[in-house]
Amino acid sequence: MSNNIGTTCVQGGYTPKNGEPRQIPIIQSTTFKYETGEAMGKLFDLEAEGYFYTRLQNPTNDMVAKKIAMLEGGSAAMLTSSGQAASFMAIFNICEAGGHIVASSSIYGGTYNLLDVTMRKMGIETTFVSPDCSDDELNAAFRENTKLVFGETIANPALTVLDIERFAKAAHDHGVPLIVDNTFATPVNCRPIEWGADIVTHSTTKYMDGHGSAVGGVIVDSGKFDWMAHKDKYPGLTTPDESYHGITYAERFGKEGAYITKCTAQLMRDFGCIPSPMGSYILNLGLESLHVRMKRHVENGQAVAEFLSKSDKIEYVSYPGLKGDKYYDRAMKYMGNGGCGVVSFNLKGGRAAAEKFMNSLKLAAIETHVADARSCCLNPASTTHRQMSDEQLLAAGIPAGLVRFSCGLEDAADLIADIEQALA
Ligand SMILES: *Cc1c(COP(=O)(O)O)cnc(C)c1O
Repeated sequence: MSNNIGTTCVQGGYTPKNGEPRQIPIIQSTTFKYETGEAMGKLFDLEAEGYFYTRLQNPTNDMVAKKIAMLEGGSAAMLTSSGQAASFMAIFNICEAGGHIVASSSIYGGTYNLLDVTMRKMGIETTFVSPDCSDDELNAAFRENTKLVFGETIANPALTVLDIERFAKAAHDHGVPLIVDNTFATPVNCRPIEWGADIVTHSTTKYMDGHGSAVGGVIVDSGKFDWMAHKDKYPGLTTPDESYHGITYAERFGKEGAYITKCTAQLMRDFGCIPSPMGSYILNLGLESLHVRMKRHVENGQAVAEFLSKSDKIEYVSYPGLKGDKYYDRAMKYMGNGGCGVVSFNLKGGRAAAEKFMNSLKLAAIETHVADARSCCLNPASTTHRQMSDEQLLAAGIPAGLVRFSCGLEDAADLIADIEQALA
């Protein structure tokens, strides 16, 4: 099949044979039947491929995971029940108690909390670095027990752009992989693996689904990181898993398969955060038009950002596609066709002005959501990021008066008219 992104969006991951359903079948079954116990035993031992229980694998989920792996240029992928589950499992698969993470400080609030609070309780420490730190600062953040580097292509909601190549190089110089959350850019606008990222995650809840319908996540492995070359760092992949019949994942499944197989066989088995096949079907409907929708989201984002940049009621506008934006050059390097439809701006008058503005909007709704077909907006300081102190907020590039405005698929002229009347 063609490697062009649009064709993969529409047809990747599933090719029906003669007389089979054109659309992916929804295998809404928890379990699968076998004629003999021996046949099923082989599946448990990972000696044969097949399905036995949907918590571990389901055909519908796998078809959609395969499409996303193709979109990202990865070797394997697995769907999860949410983006949070994807972030947690992508990390925990290679970083256990006693491990250490280097993460960009400019990331999604939920991920920040996961790293800074919950994973700390699990004995995993994180050092946060500015996405704009110097090479010296970045290198100084690594420790003996560092297991991975984490960042976001375009950070939600600060809209900082990660220098993926530079972070990948620093990670590889220290013998660890780079995990990139590519939710906002999507593989249509950026493919982090091509810039050196080793593992890519998404909240598919956002653009991939795109219609505000199904919460979900995905983890994609590039299949490029050589776990065996760093045997002591990743014993979970390079020594026998006694909880799984003594399998050594990196030996049995190689670079291309080890990481996702372990994540499925061990973490899905124990945590069980799978999507429902019905949810994956809905996600796939979104993926079929991802390449068409992203273009419109970007056009609307660009038009709204340009309008806002001319308003005297706005302190500043952040949109990486805006000439003069701090991240413009980096965005052009990594996302030449545009980044996303989310625009952030700080209203003169801070929190109170932001509130008044949002309450006055008629088309755009106030929602804890982004990347939907319908435009929506949010004041992070009073919602998604309310657990963060003012200091942490500033470090993450999110002042109290910031509005995150997610441009949907409506007509740009109508969005601008709505914003104009709300500003007035
Ligand atoms: C929303 C989001 C998440 C969390 O995803 P959920 O599907 O809400 O669990 C993670 N990363 C980014 C960048 C997000 O925007």
